[in-house]
Amino acid sequence: MEKKTCQFQAEIQQVLNLVINSLYSKKEIFLRELISNSSDAIDRAQYLGLTDKSLVEDSPAWKIDIVVDKDDKTLMISDNGIGMDEKELEQNLGVIASSGTKAFIKALQEKKGADQPQLIGQFGVGFYSAFMVADSVSVITLKRGKGQQALKWTSDGNGSYTIEPAARDKPGTTIVLTLRKGFEEYLEEWRIRELVKRYSDFIAYPIRFGDKGDAPEETAEPLNTMKALWKRAKSEIKPEEYNEFYTHLTHDHNAPFKVIHMSVEGAVEFKALIFLPKDPSYDLMMPNKKYGLNLYVRNVFIGADFDLLLPEYLRFVKGIVDSSDLPLNVSREMLQDDAVIRKIKSNITNKILSELTDLMKNDRAAYETFYAAFGRVLKEGLYSDWENADQIKALLLFPSAKSDGAKTISLAEYIAEMPKDQTDIYYLISEDLDTAKQSPHLEAVRKRGYDALLFVDAIDQWIVDNLREFDGKKLIPIDKGNLELGTEKEKAEEKKKLDTATVDYKPLLDFIQEHLKEDIKEVRLSPRLTDSACVLVADENAMSASMERMMRAMHQEVPKQMRILELNPDHALVQRMKAMFDADKADAKLTDFTDLLYGEALLSEGSQLKDAKRFTKLVTDLMVNG
Ligand code: ADP
Repeated sequence: MEKKTCQFQAEIQQVLNLVINSLYSKKEIFLRELISNSSDAIDRAQYLGLTDKSLVEDSPAWKIDIVVDKDDKTLMISDNGIGMDEKELEQNLGVIASSGTKAFIKALQEKKGADQPQLIGQFGVGFYSAFMVADSVSVITLKRGKGQQALKWTSDGNGSYTIEPAARDKPGTTIVLTLRKGFEEYLEEWRIRELVKRYSDFIAYPIRFGDKGDAPEETAEPLNTMKALWKRAKSEIKPEEYNEFYTHLTHDHNAPFKVIHMSVEGAVEFKALIFLPKDPSYDLMMPNKKYGLNLYVRNVFIGADFDLLLPEYLRFVKGIVDSSDLPLNVSREMLQDDAVIRKIKSNITNKILSELTDLMKNDRAAYETFYAAFGRVLKEGLYSDWENADQIKALLLFPSAKSDGAKTISLAEYIAEMPKDQTDIYYLISEDLDTAKQSPHLEAVRKRGYDALLFVDAIDQWIVDNLREFDGKKLIPIDKGNLELGTEKEKAEEKKKLDTATVDYKPLLDFIQEHLKEDIKEVRLSPRLTDSACVLVADENAMSASMERMMRAMHQEVPKQMRILELNPDHALVQRMKAMFDADKADAKLTDFTDLLYGEALLSEGSQLKDAKRFTKLVTDLMVNG
């Protein structure tokens, strides 16, 4: 081939500019990123070599060499991993195919200043971090397999790169950095040694050092201990070591929220290192997000993101599993129905849920932080993981009406606070906390000193069906059907009072119903209101108002839900309407008042007005006329 010059994709150039000009003080992380890439490339070569022997004909001793040359001011990171061909060079280092790039740029723009570089790597821009310390970067690579040509990729990070044939007889990849002025420290052995110890000690292949441009002897002592972290005893692992491994694994530069180190023996044997991140990744709620754990079989890397090892509702969890109960040459397809894999999955799922349960009990504030980040995803487990549904239910938190939404409580805490006469758990679905807090539906429970849980997450709509009961108590929506609170005696008294009033109000109720017959199924007096004049109630079996709005927002066909308008006979407005009606059935104001009343009921539940223009005019007229 001829030497060719290519332009970086615009987004890459943008990323490069941000990386190069970043004010990040920890420029040293570039070494970790490059070592991590080398380690991945060897992982892949080793794994593919299990099934395609031609890839490993040279019977390589897997290794990563770091070689400096003080005269040339070059630093080289060299591996004998899988290598890249021309297309891969262009794709991997010239185009970022992942949708992560755009998200990365957006995140960078949002997070001004010091936090910015934390994002490097998280979105797969690890290689480009080399440009933080180098004027020029070359990649000399020979892909494993027959008939491959060695290639050299070179760039100064300024708009373009070149690819040309190169001389390299052994497969693998060498990254050559010509260091910028001021970064000569990375030519010093002590500095490289320090960085490898700090960031890459657990890398499973020997990392050796060579100077004066000479590759190190294969017998030289490696800079890293290579001991797989998960094989070591918990007691001898420092938190920083877990943190570094986590960063290597996830590209998340924050420390993990929680580390779970498992060593299981018995029916199934495996070791696992499980991490709960602090923050949700940008793609957590995207469809088809890759998730799962990385799988090793007896220390050999089999692959990343095995979703068979983790339920989807725990897709924020990261980590690795190493089992000796599986054959080495396994494929994803083979594992689909594997009993060992199923056992590992349920074992890990149980462990995560029980750790969360403990956390909720022992460090409530930390649990609430976790829940704010991942509670929404956890809830999905209610309809996908029946086996653990009870444990998941117990982990849920909801804003409570009693605290005016300021506090979140669990179902168990709700039950513990229930007054003696309360038998059920009450909840209200609404799309946001403000609407929920102000809902007239709460008046009835408040009147009795009961609390209500406010279901204000979009997903809450979908989980109520799986939440019918907790600890023997029914969950009852307060905006549906005939909510009957209190003792039998109280209920009977209430009903009697309401029946008597209804006789009195019947002509007015009929009048309103006739006027609103297009929208309302029934008009009746309400036992549930204390302060508000009116409220809309869904039929026992009907869709709730918020569900209806959500279905419409998703362009679903929803038949018009005819609801019930309830009026508060103790309210001055309702009494005034009755007086107007009794004095003159034909009073033109009555229809205006009816429309206002209905508009008010719609607004208070967060729905849109049927005719906003008319509503505004009626309110204005009222104000003008005093
Ligand atoms: P990431 O490693 O997060 O995918 P990078 O920007 O660090 O992102 O690397 C981009 C891609 O370039 C890698 O996914 C890999 O395919 C390829 N690559 C980088 N370094 C090497 C290497 N030493 N050997 C083989 N391929 C490499």
